[in-house]
Amino acid sequence: MSTIFAKIIAGELLADIVYQDELVTAFRDIHPAAPTHILIVPNKEIPTVNDLTPEDEQTAGRMLLVAQKLAAQEGIDQSGYRLIVNCNAHGGQEVYHLHLHLIGGRPLGPMVSRK
Ligand code: 5GP
Repeated sequence: MSTIFAKIIAGELLADIVYQDELVTAFRDIHPAAPTHILIVPNKEIPTVNDLTPEDEQTAGRMLLVAQKLAAQEGIDQSGYRLIVNCNAHGGQEVYHLHLHLIGGRPLGPMVSRK
């Protein structure tokens, strides 16, 4: 079933799109966790990391390269940033359209809560 991200990619729902090509789209998170919080998503509807197949290899690689490019564009490549992909319930995934969070612009603290 399509998610809200499919509508953003198709231009049917407004978002602050910062990058788009034939494989991926990147837009600012509506509830940013840090000064920079961008979501990089495949244009193809892939629900979770579990659903990636070998034919998605180029798309998966493109997601990382776009993150690298946007980090530089945002001026956070040297200060540092975090890339996160949540998967399913324990991973805290809310939107079931694969996405890479690019988060930075302040110290982000420990990677995962120990609680
Ligand atoms: P997840 O928890 O699935 O890894 O992350 C989903 C992210 O999507 C959240 O950070 C949430 O703020 C963001 N999000 C949810 N709905 C929208 C929306 O309509 N527009 C944008 N730009 N971001 C959204």
